[in-house]
Amino acid sequence: MAINYESASAVAEVLKIHGLHLSKKFGQNFLLHPYYQHAIIGFLDAKEGETVWEIGPGIGALTHKLVTLPVKLKVFEIDRGFIPLLYDEFGHNPHFSLQEGDFLKTWKDAWAESPPDRIIGNLPYSVGSVIIADLVKSDIDCKRMVFTLQKEVVERITAKPATKEYSGFSLICQYKWNCRKGGSVPRHVFFPVPDVTSAYVGMDHDDGGGIVPRALYDDFVNDLFRSRRKTIRNNLKQGMLQTRVNTDLLFEACQKAGIALDSRGEQLSVSEVISVCTYIMETGTWPKGL
Ligand code: SAM
Repeated sequence: MAINYESASAVAEVLKIHGLHLSKKFGQNFLLHPYYQHAIIGFLDAKEGETVWEIGPGIGALTHKLVTLPVKLKVFEIDRGFIPLLYDEFGHNPHFSLQEGDFLKTWKDAWAESPPDRIIGNLPYSVGSVIIADLVKSDIDCKRMVFTLQKEVVERITAKPATKEYSGFSLICQYKWNCRKGGSVPRHVFFPVPDVTSAYVGMDHDDGGGIVPRALYDDFVNDLFRSRRKTIRNNLKQGMLQTRVNTDLLFEACQKAGIALDSRGEQLSVSEVISVCTYIMETGTWPKGL
């Protein structure tokens, strides 16, 4: 049965016929507006022959447009109730495949089998940032990722240093990824209507963007933001890194990079963090292979 993905009443009827109930826990708000479906998929800019992953297809509001592209599409859905419906709608397409279960638990095996060129997802508000952090911290290198999220989360991903939105999450996302906001998505285009406004973000992998190990970079960022109110000096003194790298060397690395120890983490740019990590690498104190 072809579903009308532009009508809340038609979608409500489909859910009723299939005996499906929407789950708040899984953040199920479906995007039922052709303009935004089209804009978000356009932002992904998938090319012929590529492999695309969709995280959380729901009942297929984005999927029904993605399957019309000349790409291989793999979707990851946690709600087992939606699986038969997704197979009914898209299972006949030889370029469509489906992975049941929690994306966070299934994606690494799927990646080892066949990594995607691009990833897209209208992500649940509850786990959106966890999913993005898991992907980037695993040092993946696909071409582009496009996510629809709560607007505030998109602002944190794309924030510049010394702004109120800038956080450790901004530094984590912006290492090796060029992040840019796509556009806002109003609440009323979702069914059911969520409490928050959304936006979409594009993240392009920057192959030349990272020269220090991801784990060192991420640990340093975590330490910088242990407490937002504390100075870099105090955060580093009590952080994770000083269990591996001598505190005096950490301070020296900051000074060499021109970073004042009595400033705060939110003032540091990605390139300043890279400079500190590069200095640590050059001293040979960071364990090989980490
Ligand atoms: N893509 C659809 C759309 O745009 O209408 C649905 C988006 S809805 C905001 C989020 C979807 O992600 C739901 O279908 C939900 O069941 C699914 N989901 C939530 N957590 C998930 C997880 N950890 N792994 C895979 N899918 C998940």
